Amino acid sequence: MQPHLLKYALQDIPRYTSYPTAAQFGPLRPETFEFWRAGLGVATSLSAYVHVPFCRQLCWYCGCHTSVPNSYSRAQRFTAAITREIAATGAALPGPKARVKHLHFGGGTPTYLKPQEFTSVMDAVHTHLGLAPGAELAVEIDPRTLTPQVRAGLAQNGINRASLGVQDFSLAVQAKINRIQPFGLVAAGVEALRKSGIDSINFDLIYGLPGQTEASVAETARLTATLAPSRVAVFGYAHVPWFKKQQAMIKQADLPGVEDRFAQATIIGDVLQEHGYVPVGLDHYVKPDDDMAKALATRTLRRNFQGYTTDAADALLGFGPSSISALPNGFAQNARDQAAWITAAEEGRTSVDRGIAVTDEDNRRAQIISQIMCYLEADFAAFPEALPRLEELASDGLVKLNGTHLSVPTEHRLFCRTVAQAFDAHYTGQAGRHAKAV
Ligand code: SF4
Repeated sequence: MQPHLLKYALQDIPRYTSYPTAAQFGPLRPETFEFWRAGLGVATSLSAYVHVPFCRQLCWYCGCHTSVPNSYSRAQRFTAAITREIAATGAALPGPKARVKHLHFGGGTPTYLKPQEFTSVMDAVHTHLGLAPGAELAVEIDPRTLTPQVRAGLAQNGINRASLGVQDFSLAVQAKINRIQPFGLVAAGVEALRKSGIDSINFDLIYGLPGQTEASVAETARLTATLAPSRVAVFGYAHVPWFKKQQAMIKQADLPGVEDRFAQATIIGDVLQEHGYVPVGLDHYVKPDDDMAKALATRTLRRNFQGYTTDAADALLGFGPSSISALPNGFAQNARDQAAWITAAEEGRTSVDRGIAVTDEDNRRAQIISQIMCYLEADFAAFPEALPRLEELASDGLVKLNGTHLSVPTEHRLFCRTVAQAFDAHYTGQAGRHAKAV
């Protein structure tokens, strides 16, 4: 990394999976969310996110909202509660059913659920929301939990996209993050998923983990390419042990510095591109025939809480603790506390307690931020006030300006969040609120 870019790499910048970002959420009454939801047009297309807040064991790098239950009965109680939440939402939604175009199970570990519980949740979705024809049904998978029974349950329920948490194939790195999953285990899981008819496979990789080197992440990228997932997302590890207690198990001294992180992210991208992957936005790489490459070409790519997506739905409904709904009027987050969420769901109440209403001004800014994050370019004629900051970034090479057109050079795509931030009216620069730019 060029030395003059160091100050940008160390800056705390939102990931812009939404705008306004979750850091701007404040108290929100459940009635406000219910009013927004009741106002959805009868033709509004929908997507749904189901958050499963359980894992078999904690990975030390984890930044997700999850827990390790001491008994499977908690997952059974969760299943009963979330089916109730889905039923209550279905009853409250105006308009016809079968408008859900994308359904995403995230966590935590959705495959912590046994087939019986997973099927119960899917049945609730079919009965109370309904899936649009050809809907994408995606599940995040911890390869260590992908038993033949779990895999059969996913296939029987029509799951057509699997997102595997791979992170790094080095056993030495895996030992340092408390997540041992040898290459052979992942390869067998991928092969079995494909045999079950689930052939849209995503991998998540992480750079900046303890013990990683340029050579080790390059090898992980090479091994990834041999398994040919259609999409690869490459995230930077965010070390915030004061916020995520298990991260205290990771020694600061074992972590790569910012220049090493930059080099690792760069070499992963280089290796994937050598193997035919197309870069998308900040941190995704996709096969040229994948729908996401087509969405990039046709300018229909979107960004949501899971990262880049082809999901073009008008509204996203979140289910489960901590899940976020994105409606035309604003964002609403379910209670993050599992006990508060489960009590509300069992009583048929909405658990929403945080969120933010969006203004027309927010929507205008969201649009240009999304364009920069998705396409690395935008026209900023409507935002002349951003020019001084853009000129500053341009003088350091992070952006090219041509009249009112801006573009982020591909070699600086890791800094596209920094460019997008020039249009963020809520950004305060307060340290510790967001991940580092690199
Ligand atoms: S499996 Fe995923 S959600 Fe669970 S602890 Fe590991 S990283 Fe976190």
